[in-house]
Amino acid sequence: MHSITRKLFFYQIVLFSGCASTRTVDAKTPTGTVGLSYISRLYSMKMSAFGKKIVLENKYNKLEVETNSRRAWINGVMIWLHEPCRKYGNEWTIREVDFKKAIDPILRSYAYAPKRLPRLVVIDPGHGGSDPGASGSKSNIREKEVVLDISYRVRKLLEAKNIKVRMTRTGDTLPGLDARTAYAAKVGADVFISIHADGAGSPQAHGVETFITSAAGYDSSNFYGQGGDKEAQRNNAYDAANAILGFSLQSNLVNMSKREDRGLRRARFSVIKKAPCPSALVECGFLTNPDEESLLNSASYRESVARGIANGVLGYFTLIKRAIR
Ligand SMILES: [Zn+2]
Repeated sequence: MHSITRKLFFYQIVLFSGCASTRTVDAKTPTGTVGLSYISRLYSMKMSAFGKKIVLENKYNKLEVETNSRRAWINGVMIWLHEPCRKYGNEWTIREVDFKKAIDPILRSYAYAPKRLPRLVVIDPGHGGSDPGASGSKSNIREKEVVLDISYRVRKLLEAKNIKVRMTRTGDTLPGLDARTAYAAKVGADVFISIHADGAGSPQAHGVETFITSAAGYDSSNFYGQGGDKEAQRNNAYDAANAILGFSLQSNLVNMSKREDRGLRRARFSVIKKAPCPSALVECGFLTNPDEESLLNSASYRESVARGIANGVLGYFTLIKRAIR
């Protein structure tokens, strides 16, 4: 074995064996938690503190965790943890579920990505028909029309890369939420992406965000998530793949839209929790924010957002191809 290959081989062994048990051996952290110093050793990352953030960094990746907060960043893109980063003794910790179902799958996608090449993407334009979704305040622009236009653009971009795409609606109709995921199952979707634009009570709210299904036993990360619904869902079978897909979508969405990063979040929206394959729901900006309403009203912004979503899917496909190789 060539020496560099051997080094890489051992590096992977260390990572894999580390993953077998995420309990630290030398730090006294409670069951169900993982110490940040353990994570820094596992990834050979240098750990330092900057204000309220603990920063772990190596040549390839940077993980930042805000203390006493649910916010973390991987390579500058925000992800919401299920539970806040907490200190036990001298050790800052995160929940094991956040390490195993978000951070580790994103940083070591090759170990978690599905071992089958995806073939079919189902795009779900939100709302439709008698349900307009969110509305703009300055114009009469409605979410159902905006997201249908973005969905067509995503389809065109993916088909140009020889990816098969189906849509849950192609006109101004309102398929039921269950019908949308049932359709994805019927056609054998490998990826399901629901496309939305946000609405909020405050005109200040702005930015783009991506939701994936909350892990079993944990709440949604947004205030409009359904409380009390903590049971494992059909889509929880794809927790790791959801994180890889969701992170790729959010990174590319932020990059192409140039809007504020509201993060990769968790929710139990019906269309993602019942999806029969890795899935995510993207919010492409707020129709209730005057600036973003103007942007969503422009074809050039909708094209940028569509490129972000398509690039997110292509990035996910690339990671799977690398994992299979
Ligand atoms: Zn919506």
